[in-house]
Amino acid sequence: MISVEEHRATVAELLTPGRTATLPLAGCAGLVLAHDVRAGVSLPPFDNSAMDGFAVRSVDVVEATEDKPVELPVTGDIPAGRTDVEPLLPGTAHRIMTGAPLPPGADSVVMVERTDAGPGFAGGDAGRVRVFATAPPGTHVRRTGEDVSAGTVALPAGSVLGPPQLGLAAAVGLDRLTVYTPPRVLVVSTGSELVTAPDPLRHGQIYESNSIMLLAALRALGCEVRTLRSVADDVGTFREAVTAELAGVDLVVTSGGVSAGAYEVVKDALADAGVRFTKVAMQPGGPQGCGRWEGVPVVTLPGNPVSVLVSFEVFLRPAILAAMGHTATSRQRVRARLTEDLRSPVGKRQFRRGWYSPAVGAVTGEVGPRGGPGSHLLAAFAQANCLIELPEEACEVVAGSEVDVILL
Ligand code: AMP
Ligand code: MG
Repeated sequence: MISVEEHRATVAELLTPGRTATLPLAGCAGLVLAHDVRAGVSLPPFDNSAMDGFAVRSVDVVEATEDKPVELPVTGDIPAGRTDVEPLLPGTAHRIMTGAPLPPGADSVVMVERTDAGPGFAGGDAGRVRVFATAPPGTHVRRTGEDVSAGTVALPAGSVLGPPQLGLAAAVGLDRLTVYTPPRVLVVSTGSELVTAPDPLRHGQIYESNSIMLLAALRALGCEVRTLRSVADDVGTFREAVTAELAGVDLVVTSGGVSAGAYEVVKDALADAGVRFTKVAMQPGGPQGCGRWEGVPVVTLPGNPVSVLVSFEVFLRPAILAAMGHTATSRQRVRARLTEDLRSPVGKRQFRRGWYSPAVGAVTGEVGPRGGPGSHLLAAFAQANCLIELPEEACEVVAGSEVDVILL
């Protein structure tokens, strides 16, 4: 038996490094930037007004008060987007809107609320404006390069491209980014007992569920997914079905057919073809395999649905995230107080489905199991929000003790 960490490392090694591609910004959401990105322009690109109001020379309004306003002729009008701004002459004001370029000569902006609005502020009719407050140099002025300086690194390699990062890339004038692309995954469910709904079930058959779970879990990471939903337990059928779909696939994930029984189709088909089958010291999810088949990485999961999803969480999710350039590949972990006694097999790490109630104030969070340890108990998983991780040496874990919880 190998440890959870050993198998996790083997799977992670199989998948790195990821592919990169240069994509339009709209296709980059959630992906990781592969290279540093430098700003082509400064942000803001020019000194501009932070307010609707009047661009002035600060010295011209240095005496302005509510009681003794300073009156200035309004000699210009600068809406946002104006590119031919005239200089501001001493003793005058230009009406200016938020985001409009400051006229040469002006060093501050008086917001409209500190003026009598000037005749026809909304209508745009230049006239005179009475200013009720001083505007020291720089007031309501957004300086060139205050946010980003042209030529500097705006987004470092490794940035996860969420809304603000993509907004910044667009703001500095980029339309494409080079990102790590998510793997294209082929999910293969094996088992001669598997039926795809809505076909009717005969006694001895079950509805196939692993492929949809894996599809959902993989899609949540951004992967492209194709599924083969019920490949019979026959080596020839398995090889043929999978090879027919291998083109353009970065990773094959199978479920079923890897335990110690007879008719272990995945093991029988791949054991001599580059995939190593092992037992990992964990429950559920002991029987695992991983390697390359025809050059394509293959991870073989056991068949029981709970084992599949736990294996995905423990091995595949971190490996895929790493291959996609993420450095934060683990789920959030917390310690919580157990609400019930649990038993765990000595020598194996146990992952139990649980419900975690977060800490309130100084009281530690609590966690209780959902369902038993059985790896077929999918309904219990559907009611869980976490995995309770009990270490290899644990045997009896009593209510009230603190345990590790992986938040899903
Ligand atoms: P195996 O590892 O192939 O022996 O499968 C272990 C258990 O998981 C058996 O009870 C299978 O019927 C069940 N199983 C395997 N694959 C699937 C699947 N895709 N959907 C639902 N149950 C499955
Ligand atoms: Mg099977």
